[in-house]
Amino acid sequence: MTSVIVHYQELALKGRNRPWFIRALLRNIRTLLADLDVRHIASMVGRIEVRFESGDHWPEVRARLARLSGIANFARAVHVPADVDVMAATVLDGLRGLEPRRFRIKARRADKRFPVPSPEIERRVGAHVQAELGWPVDLSHPQSVIRIEVLSGEAFIIFDREPGAGGLPIGSGGKAVCLLSGGIDSPVAAWRVMRRGVTVQLVHFHSYPILNQVSQEKARELSAILARRQLMSRLYLVPFGSIQQQVMLTVPPELRVVIYRRLMVRIAQRIAERVHADALVTGDVIGQVASQTIENIRAVDDAATMPILRPLIGCDKEEITQEAIRLGTYETSIIPDQDCCTLFTPRNPTTRAALEFARAAEGLLDLETLVSQALRDTVVEERTFPAGPGLCAVVENGKMRRLLA
Ligand code: ATP
Ligand code: MG
Repeated sequence: MTSVIVHYQELALKGRNRPWFIRALLRNIRTLLADLDVRHIASMVGRIEVRFESGDHWPEVRARLARLSGIANFARAVHVPADVDVMAATVLDGLRGLEPRRFRIKARRADKRFPVPSPEIERRVGAHVQAELGWPVDLSHPQSVIRIEVLSGEAFIIFDREPGAGGLPIGSGGKAVCLLSGGIDSPVAAWRVMRRGVTVQLVHFHSYPILNQVSQEKARELSAILARRQLMSRLYLVPFGSIQQQVMLTVPPELRVVIYRRLMVRIAQRIAERVHADALVTGDVIGQVASQTIENIRAVDDAATMPILRPLIGCDKEEITQEAIRLGTYETSIIPDQDCCTLFTPRNPTTRAALEFARAAEGLLDLETLVSQALRDTVVEERTFPAGPGLCAVVENGKMRRLLA
């Protein structure tokens, strides 16, 4: 029988909240693996053990656990009868097909009645692996350590630890709403915040039907990729085109991007209040594009009544790109689309949106009507992971409609 031993970040889960964090992680792992023949899942001293009916799903289990935040590392473990030949065969099975590595076997007898002493178990199992796979034994600097724990009547074989995503368990840190464009940065920003245990809902502004639907499709795909990590994601698709047309009528071209952003913040904030979220998240990086100068950030923040978190603020594009690749969002983000922010804006928007100008330009708009119209026409989609048919729901104008995914 196969198990997985999950270690969380000891130091991160400190103090009185510890049992609560561990329960959150346990719950997340249970949901994450719900469809993969889990027999039993339990919290032990300093670790969580998941037992499976078989080892068949290991590659999928491994891929899913590597994405879940709150895990420091995890390792596959196999229970076998306490018999050295069986142990050797099982270790061999677990390593077959992997790249050869310098390895060592570390055995420990919790049950001293087992007749074979630990060094001999190590020698026999090690020799078997060496002979069958050609892997070199290296006792001082092994690349791979396989542990064998002999208990009464059975042995436990623990393969290499694999790195987890780190961070804190999803659902342990409040709620935020991320402004998700179709670009590279905002999904990475959303993940950075999710990884600290915050539940992040997503808001995408699109200019359909003035522009095509590609940006919405990208936002949907990104939302599905993030749901694999957060176990669910809710995507609010906000029609923004008619707001932009209104802005175009009264706001000078060089101020439009900042005014669009201020309106996005106002709308996202209203959504945040509805879902009891306490912050917004964006993918802004200082100086990356014209709208992201420190002056413009100030002019955008001026419209906010809740904190705007910008986890990428000091990152270079290359760092963000690498993280997007690891996250699995990059391929979707680079699909060419028509970004709503470029609609009715000049090629060179102002890099210094003097606060007073932005406020004055906005004074000519009926903000409340624009915001509430956009909210009324917003469509919400919910995705869960793992998803079965019918698990993707769409809420339209407050009414829930089930979709066959
Ligand atoms: P990204 O790669 O995230 O699109 P960017 O470098 O293209 O970022 P901008 O287009 O200036 O930068 O957007 C800055 C931030 O504003 C984005 O990271 C995102 O949080 C938010 N944003 C921009 N456009 C939209 C949109 N259409 N819908 C939702 N949020 C948006
Ligand atoms: Mg963008």
